[in-house]
Amino acid sequence: MKKHNFYAGPAILPSEVLEGAIEAIKDFNGNGLSLLEISHRSKDFEAVMAESEQLVKELFGIGDEYAVLFLTGGASSQFYMIPMNLLKDGEKAAYINTGVWATGAIKEAKNFGIPEVIASSEEDQFRHIPRNYSIPADAAYLHITSNNTIYGSQYHFWPNSPIPMVCDMSSDLFSRPVDGNQFDLIYAGAQKNLGPAGVTLVVIKKSLLQRAGRKLPAMLDYKTHVDKGSMYNTPPVFPIYVSMLTMRWIKKMGGTKAMAQRNDEKAATLYAEIDRNSCFTGTVRSEDRSKMNVVFVAKNPAHESLFLEACKKAQCVGLAGHRSVGGFRASLYNALGLDSVNALVSLMQEFESQNA
Ligand SMILES: *Cc1c(COP(=O)(O)O)cnc(C)c1O
Repeated sequence: MKKHNFYAGPAILPSEVLEGAIEAIKDFNGNGLSLLEISHRSKDFEAVMAESEQLVKELFGIGDEYAVLFLTGGASSQFYMIPMNLLKDGEKAAYINTGVWATGAIKEAKNFGIPEVIASSEEDQFRHIPRNYSIPADAAYLHITSNNTIYGSQYHFWPNSPIPMVCDMSSDLFSRPVDGNQFDLIYAGAQKNLGPAGVTLVVIKKSLLQRAGRKLPAMLDYKTHVDKGSMYNTPPVFPIYVSMLTMRWIKKMGGTKAMAQRNDEKAATLYAEIDRNSCFTGTVRSEDRSKMNVVFVAKNPAHESLFLEACKKAQCVGLAGHRSVGGFRASLYNALGLDSVNALVSLMQEFESQNA
């Protein structure tokens, strides 16, 4: 029996994407070789790269003033690559601190300029998305994290920024319609909502290339990768291929609009049960709740391990909260079906009838 997969990342992928990945490992495009044993410069792989870039542009509705890159080093490497490439020595960048990942990005920016934290929800244990702040017009860019994977909060509005906007979309990429033109740089580790671990998507407005003007190692300069179409060195061919399959699947399912409908329904179903059930409570302010990572706790701390045990028995996996916050986290990425959310809801109802 297939398990109900609520892992936060690496995470669930559509079953037809997995089937396509298996096929490509066995025999890629029917050419008698595995995807893993052909040159990244072969025609077949160049076609994968071109289609992947095209799909990203379509899903974000962006044109040729943007470059689409498939890099390595995880979203965590973007925490330093962004200030390295965009921020001049002694220059300011504005950051909004909404959780662990934003904190990591702020820390790295200190190595290359002055990150100014213009708003933070830290004093509230990151239970909301900050609203009232002003964005300094003399900062090089504004950095936000669209979805806070660990604390379970999400932007449901975008800041009205007078300066270039940079967004870490690692955990809600392509989960809803987003007009990419509002952003100057978007990045996301693939392993939450796009593909396997090992590739990081970066979408950058070409006008920002070499903005910082500092001398950089070739591998850490976005321009190198833009000039070489993400093929300066050997790209992570397999994660890119699987990401392409996921984007094909999103498109076939009706695009990001259809994803949003699916995700809205799943999140509404689960939050309704959390609010109704006398054993559990949500941790995030209701208007800022994430539709990707639903974080909740047991009202009675003794119930925590009991409920996780019940989940395991019912084949619902990946529900333990992040080690830094405890409780529970149900990740409802694009590929997760409503049937899995319904299974979790039934389990919560059963738990309440036995333990309340
Ligand atoms: C997981 C995650 C990261 C870190 O990604 P890595 O690819 O492991 O470096 C960064 N930001 C967000 C929002 C995440 O969810």
